[in-house]
Amino acid sequence: MIVELGNARARWRAGFAFVGMLVLIAATACTTVVGQPQPAGTSGSTGSSGTSGTPDGPFVQQLAGEVSDAGAMTHLTALQKIADENGGNRAAGTRGYDASVEYVSGVLRQIGFEVSTPSYEGSDHDDEGGSTPGRNVIAETRTGDAGQVVMIGSHLDSVQEGPGIVDDGSGVAALLEIATRLGAEPAVKNKVRFAFFGHEEVGLQGSKGYVESLSSADLKKIKMYLNVDMIASPNGGYIVQGGKGSDEEETGPPGSGTIAQVLADQLVKSGVKSPEIIKFVGDDETAFVEAGIPTGGAENGDAKKKTAAQAEAWGGQAGQVYDPCYHQACDRIENVNRTVLGHYVRALAGTVAHFATSPDALR
Ligand SMILES: [Zn+2]
Repeated sequence: MIVELGNARARWRAGFAFVGMLVLIAATACTTVVGQPQPAGTSGSTGSSGTSGTPDGPFVQQLAGEVSDAGAMTHLTALQKIADENGGNRAAGTRGYDASVEYVSGVLRQIGFEVSTPSYEGSDHDDEGGSTPGRNVIAETRTGDAGQVVMIGSHLDSVQEGPGIVDDGSGVAALLEIATRLGAEPAVKNKVRFAFFGHEEVGLQGSKGYVESLSSADLKKIKMYLNVDMIASPNGGYIVQGGKGSDEEETGPPGSGTIAQVLADQLVKSGVKSPEIIKFVGDDETAFVEAGIPTGGAENGDAKKKTAAQAEAWGGQAGQVYDPCYHQACDRIENVNRTVLGHYVRALAGTVAHFATSPDALR
């Protein structure tokens, strides 16, 4: 259920002190947790420098301040190496994809997450009716209410034509960076679940298979889904999906607009001018939208051209496509725009922290 803004603010402030206490208690009790966010007072943080929205709690400020494009680049370098060693791509059903599954699972296990690689029925790229079992990677925090799951996802496969470093290595790297800084036992109210889907480039099969595999009881526990697909394009924009459009297929279920607004606010707090909120474009969020789960999305644009107004607000080249290497062999590590990546990684971390600690339920 969505509460009115004034009411939400009052409840947020009330929850603020409570969450702050939880962070303090957990930071004292669990000093061995990797990347455990510390209370704001110990970090030298002086509060929100942003210009919009409700003041962030210390947990939000801490996580958004800890993540970086440099951390994400470590993972993008690893994904590039995997593609280079496996015929130049990481497409579903290939050795490059399997190596990507192993890499992501390994990073998450090392942090201490519970990791699973549930399979789904995936049909091949060649479209000759062949099918191979595909694998997703799912990991969640050991802490937080299992009946209140905050979920963030990206796709782990590339197209066959290239290594997929921006599409969607950038989303994968952002999730791994956030998971690393969050740690497996953060002082959160809600459980945080990370998803890395296969076969996105072949009809969204991984995300559809995952949603179909869940019981209606387990689906109800997912309070929100945030999709991350392309957030480091050379001429990228700052675009957010959710709550816009004329029907629920475009806007997402009730609550989706709130997710989009929080992400847009976090982009502004990271220094972005006027992020745009748009309707859904039909990526891995589709299955979640169809299941009635409040959903948001981050995508910096692909083969369309940046407008003059966007270039004015965000920088970059007006009249040029957001990503000239979209779905091509040149979508390599050299294709990454670290400025765009950095803004999105910080904003996504802030958004995850916000909903992980928020006392307000989206549904
Ligand atoms: Zn993609």
